[in-house]
Amino acid sequence: MTDTRKTRTKLVHDGIRRSQYGEVSEAIFLTQGFVYDSAEQAQQRFDTLGEDEFIYARYGNPTVRMFEERLASLEGCEDGFATASGMAAVNASLMAICKAGDHIVSSRALFGSCLYILEEIMSRFGVEVTFVDGTDLDQWREAIRPDTRAVFLETVSNPALDVIDLKSVAELAHDAGAMVIVDNVFATPIYSRAVELGADVVVYSTTKHIDGQGRALGGAVLGTTAFIRKTLEPYLKHTGGAMSPFTAWMHLKGLETLDLRVRAMTATAQTLAEHFEGHAALAKVIYPGLPSHAQHAIAAEQMTGFGTVLSLDLAGGQEAAFRFLNALELVTISNNLGDAKSIVTHPATTTHSRLSEEQRDHLGIGPGLVRLSVGLEDEADLIADISNALGAI
Ligand SMILES: *Cc1c(COP(=O)(O)O)cnc(C)c1O
Repeated sequence: MTDTRKTRTKLVHDGIRRSQYGEVSEAIFLTQGFVYDSAEQAQQRFDTLGEDEFIYARYGNPTVRMFEERLASLEGCEDGFATASGMAAVNASLMAICKAGDHIVSSRALFGSCLYILEEIMSRFGVEVTFVDGTDLDQWREAIRPDTRAVFLETVSNPALDVIDLKSVAELAHDAGAMVIVDNVFATPIYSRAVELGADVVVYSTTKHIDGQGRALGGAVLGTTAFIRKTLEPYLKHTGGAMSPFTAWMHLKGLETLDLRVRAMTATAQTLAEHFEGHAALAKVIYPGLPSHAQHAIAAEQMTGFGTVLSLDLAGGQEAAFRFLNALELVTISNNLGDAKSIVTHPATTTHSRLSEEQRDHLGIGPGLVRLSVGLEDEADLIADISNALGAI
């Protein structure tokens, strides 16, 4: 891999494999399998797979491989495995390493389905999970034990946008011999320094910023070649969470513009956060790029940008939040993020409705909290739409 190249160059060129036709744009290999010249070649390929050789699309495919290599190069990882969704990636990263009797420490502020895997599924297989408040280092210190197999965390968290001191958590984990798995969606691969700060495994839902145009579900697990090929791949290739070649092709095209899109969306997010902070209808504007954010300093130190999502806490609770959502004309009500279209979500009644009110309170998901994923629209139009909807409360 060409490590000296800069991000925007890598996003356009890395991982490309050209066929005998010398196509400019990455080819879509919509094929489930591959033919062999002879019985001997088939035997040999099942025995040891060479660098540019494939057997079956559940194990690997040239288009998917291009996407895996481009994303791994971007993240500064040796290798990667692309999956059918972000949740397939999270599930595989945990199931591939854990066995009954193991212990995991996880931050509590997680994407709803990640919480389900850790709370409901892992425990059924005899894996003990201790949840901590991710921003409290003392809780991590207390929870991590000599038999801790892994720590799992999401930074920046969804939807309360807590930023975890990844470097310090990784040091605590490594002192105990535990692996560090980071769900890195909100930081995006553009602003991520996860590997540099100590992450052993980085997991993405590529459905978000990487696709970036609301088309396809996808995911990826990134790490060392040893981890990806010896630990993760055997689990994934036999359990079937592979990414479709068509999705990989859309994601390759998504990666080409990822840096431009994420930076434009982040600039608008910062403008909106600054513009609406202090608005009479809002109890709080939460954005890691605001000096008022509780972990602003850590975000500035451990990320190279503050991200594309902000949260607004409406002073009037759920009634005000619903009025606000319903009065928006440009910003759409949905639950994706990282999309070209700005999207607004009311987590307490949708993505986090499974949780008890007590759990939600603990995570800072109040009835007035609204998550805003900032898209690529002109910022003046977004300011006008949001101002108007806040006025309608
Ligand atoms: C969306 C998301 C997931 C799940 O990804 P899917 O592609 O929807 O399966 C996991 N973690 C975070 C932080 C997410 O935002």
